[in-house]
Amino acid sequence: MSDDAIRLAVVTRLNWIKAKRKEFEKQARESQREYVSGETHFVQGRRYRLNVIEGRRTPKVSFSKSGWLDYQIPVNSAHDERERYFQNWQRRELRRLAEPIISDAAYRMELRRPDWGIRRMKTKWGSCNAEARRIWLNLELFKKPIGCLQYIIVHELVHLYVRHHNDDFHRRMDRYLPLWRNLRDELNREPLAHEDWTY
Ligand SMILES: [Zn+2]
Repeated sequence: MSDDAIRLAVVTRLNWIKAKRKEFEKQARESQREYVSGETHFVQGRRYRLNVIEGRRTPKVSFSKSGWLDYQIPVNSAHDERERYFQNWQRRELRRLAEPIISDAAYRMELRRPDWGIRRMKTKWGSCNAEARRIWLNLELFKKPIGCLQYIIVHELVHLYVRHHNDDFHRRMDRYLPLWRNLRDELNREPLAHEDWTY
C-alpha cells in the first residue's frame, strides 16, 4: 500500500475511530470500581493505586508510599461494603477540604455562610438552591485537583447572588476567582472529564 492509500484509509475511518475512542473513554469512566489491589483511584487530580490489606476490623484508608493508598478492610468484605467504606472516606476528606474554601469564599463575597453538603450526583458537579441558601457538591470532586473544587464552590456561591449564567454572573466570577476559566478547563480535562455535566 502506498502512503497515500494508507492516509486515505485512515481519513475515511476517522469518524469511526473518533466514535470508538469516545466509546472507550466512556467505558473507562463508568467502569465499576472493584476496590481490589492495583486498581486506580484518583485523589485531588493525582492517580493512586490501591493496596488492599485484609484482616483489620476497622476499615481505614491511608496514604502510603508515593502513589499508593493503603485500604485496610475486614476479611471477605463484600463489594458494597468496600465501596461504602471507601466513599465514606472520600466524603470525610472532601468535607475537610471544602470547609475552609467555603468559609473563606463566603467571607470574601460578603455572604452569610450557606448550608452545604456532599452528594453523589449523576450529571452535576454542584448545585445551588438560592431560596434555601444551600449548595451541594458532587462527591466526584474529590478526584479532581483542588482548584476545580474551589471553582465549583465559588460558582455555586455566585448563584446565591445571580441565578443565571449571564454577564453579571461572569463579572462576579472574574472578581472573586479571576482564574476561573483555567479551572473550568481543568475540570473538563481527561481523565474523569464530564463535559456534559451541569453546575
Ligand atoms: Zn451554574
